[in-house]
Amino acid sequence: AANESGAGRYAPSPSGDLHLGNLRTALVAWLFARASGRRFLMRIEDLDRARDAGAAAAQLADLAALGIDWDGEPVLQTSRGAAHEAAIAQLAAAGFVYECTCTRKDILAAPTAPHAPPGAYPGTCRDLSDDEREAARARIAPRLPALRLRAPAGESSLAFDDLLLGNVVGDIDDLVLRRGDGTVAYNLAVVVDDDAMGVDQIVRGDDLASSTPRQILLQRLLGLRTVPQLQYAHVPLVLGPGGARLAKRDGAVTLADLRATGVGAAEVRSLLAESLGLAGHGEPVTPDQIVERFDPTALPRAAWAWPGV
Ligand code: GLU
Ligand code: ZN
Repeated sequence: AANESGAGRYAPSPSGDLHLGNLRTALVAWLFARASGRRFLMRIEDLDRARDAGAAAAQLADLAALGIDWDGEPVLQTSRGAAHEAAIAQLAAAGFVYECTCTRKDILAAPTAPHAPPGAYPGTCRDLSDDEREAARARIAPRLPALRLRAPAGESSLAFDDLLLGNVVGDIDDLVLRRGDGTVAYNLAVVVDDDAMGVDQIVRGDDLASSTPRQILLQRLLGLRTVPQLQYAHVPLVLGPGGARLAKRDGAVTLADLRATGVGAAEVRSLLAESLGLAGHGEPVTPDQIVERFDPTALPRAAWAWPGV
């Protein structure tokens, strides 16, 4: 196949059972990879929830039940600490890292720069002298400072081409690289891990599209492979019956819920395939069949409203 050396991936956070929105995104990521001859890799994003091993196992079992398969063992993000720290050290050596002692409250209280997007970091700690830095550290002890990226001056947004959304423009800023409690930030971890895993096709929910410019900036500063060698596709949300983003309160939305109402995994696969234009109404389909029918250019671009069962 055309892209044997490339890889797609799915990267769930093990925070409970996957719902139909997550499962649909996972299916689309798998279809993109398999239909283009790529390997499909799994990564458990457990930096925040290292102790929830049961949730990860349940998520993998649900993905397998839909017919999604992956190559090799899932990568645990918590096993990648040395690589994350090495990337932060590399950025620091190039002058792109500074300590930030701000609390959330400090950030909200500080005057924002003109034209800065709401909630943007106001730059309070960006240009402190060594003495000021030491005083700030002493003030928050025993808490430790977070580490932030010193984003290149004069660049406040970045655009990329998304396979589903078209041209996307988003903010870039002094994002957090490591929190004060020592946890490595999502944006840093995802960039380092995708690169190490050989991922060149990133398909995920469109709630993360606004993070992608920040991740592309990190790829650039770390000298990693970036767009257009990396493909991005952000998949539209699934809406619940109320028109808001699908959530647990919308009733039977996980495979376990649906099984309990008599709807098995094969039927859910067919429903999801139908929502993607890959199956007729109520038509049973195998995983191989939907890979064969998959055409990224024909994918629906709008959010899918879950009709309920
Ligand atoms: N772990 C993230 C989530 O579950 C996805 C990260 C990614 O795909 O980049 O929302
Ligand atoms: Zn700060």
